[in-house]
Amino acid sequence: MKPISYARATDIASAVATVSADPTRAFLAGGTTEIDLLRQGVVTPSGLVDINELPLKQIESLPDGGLRIGALARMSEVAEASDVVERFPVIAQALVFGASAQLRHMASMGGNLLQRVRCSYFRDVSSPCNKREPGSGCAALDGINRGHAILGTSDQCIATHPSDVAVALVALDALVHVTGPNGKRTIPIDDFFLLPGATPHREHPLSHGELIVAIEVPALPLARQSLYLKIRDRSSYEFALVSVAVALQLDGNVIRDVHLALGGIATKPWRARRAEHILLGAEAQRANFLRAAHEELIGAAPRKYNTFKVELAERTIVRALEMITTMGGRA
Ligand SMILES: Cc1cc2nc3c(=O)[nH]c(=O)nc-3n(C[C@H](O)[C@H](O)[C@H](O)COP(=O)(O)OP(=O)(O)OC[C@H]3O[C@@H](n4cnc5c(N)ncnc54)[C@H](O)[C@@H]3O)c2cc1C
Ligand code: SF4
Repeated sequence: MKPISYARATDIASAVATVSADPTRAFLAGGTTEIDLLRQGVVTPSGLVDINELPLKQIESLPDGGLRIGALARMSEVAEASDVVERFPVIAQALVFGASAQLRHMASMGGNLLQRVRCSYFRDVSSPCNKREPGSGCAALDGINRGHAILGTSDQCIATHPSDVAVALVALDALVHVTGPNGKRTIPIDDFFLLPGATPHREHPLSHGELIVAIEVPALPLARQSLYLKIRDRSSYEFALVSVAVALQLDGNVIRDVHLALGGIATKPWRARRAEHILLGAEAQRANFLRAAHEELIGAAPRKYNTFKVELAERTIVRALEMITTMGGRA
């Protein structure tokens, strides 16, 4: 057994300094991803820096109407916060439909963004996997790829990004605030998740030792009219086959504004900009929803076992748009 050092950080500066000082140290939040991977031998840190005592748990409404979520706020706390439920329902729903009640109590928001893929070959250290071991190959390309991505794939990796709430946050143009050895910076969430390309081991733009301190959701009036629709093999405790986060505002029956993002089918939480472009200014009717969904999936590259995801994604987009427009979506 390999020994691992453990330290409990009491302030942000020392947490950052301790992890930055050694490339083999890692932050530990709820541990629901990190400890699993450690047990499976997928990650092999020499030391863990527990960040749970840092003052990063607050969920605050901002004066301009936005929302700031501390990186250590638990998924369950955010899902239940009245401000989130009322003004950003898509976030609350994406959280409630994720994992299990026990996991949601443990799992932090920062850790959620940085959770690792659920590809079974990634988690089996005897399989080739470019993400775990660059240059070793990708067992999923010609393997069991039913759960894998059809958008944003490369010939190096086709793993789906697993987070639900990240899809909602991408739809709402959230910002990720980080603090690192070189100071603070803010990253728009759509830039926070990287496509695999030729470097699937690089999943985000953080450098070693950078700590997520908060997630900020801007004051978008249409966020009140939003929902998260998740399709999965069973109705709880399961990752998405396809999911849709949508926020929409109508003017009469015309779509005045729409934000749409997809989960379960892409290598990063997928902002559906092609579909948004078709929907903006269009009548809120099924024919336009079908056209938008079809256009978004035009670039899909399914593999042997996941071709069904193309039609399932189109149908789920249409259903989510029908649900949100039936609910109101009125200015
Ligand atoms: C059985 C199971 C089912 C699940 N189902 C779902 C689901 O349906 N939907 C879904 O979205 N998720 C699901 N999850 C994933 C779960 O939501 C994540 O494991 C969890 O959110 C990770 O948060 P954590 O605090 O436990 O992170 P940890 O495990 O502590 O950390 C995860 C990673 O992030 C790093 N890290 C943590 N916090 C920070 C920070 N503030 N700054 C920088 N780095 C940090 C750690 O070093 C580590 O690399 C499931 C997990 C399990 C085990
Ligand atoms: S899909 Fe990605 S994570 Fe899965 S085996 Fe291939 S390279 Fe690894």
